[in-house]
Amino acid sequence: MLNISCTYCRSPINVGDGELALIVQAAEGKHPKSAPVTCPNCRKTNKVPFKRLEQAYKLAGSPLPPEEEPVEEAEPAAEESTEPAATEA
Ligand SMILES: [Zn+2]
Repeated sequence: MLNISCTYCRSPINVGDGELALIVQAAEGKHPKSAPVTCPNCRKTNKVPFKRLEQAYKLAGSPLPPEEEPVEEAEPAAEESTEPAATEA
């Protein structure tokens, strides 16, 4: 996560880890000077130095939050022998 403040309205802008990952991954290994971050308050686009974003992205550790895998419970199939009793008339 990266905390910056809007250059237009001075509002704090939080760039979440997921967003950082998107920005850095969108650059595809290139190193642009800056990346656009939209202020949620005034909707203006702030140009944030790419280095700052990349640094925060690296500090975040994992590129993307790991998806939780559903735990499959191995339930043994209960086989019931429902064979009809052989009754001879
Ligand atoms: Zn703003």
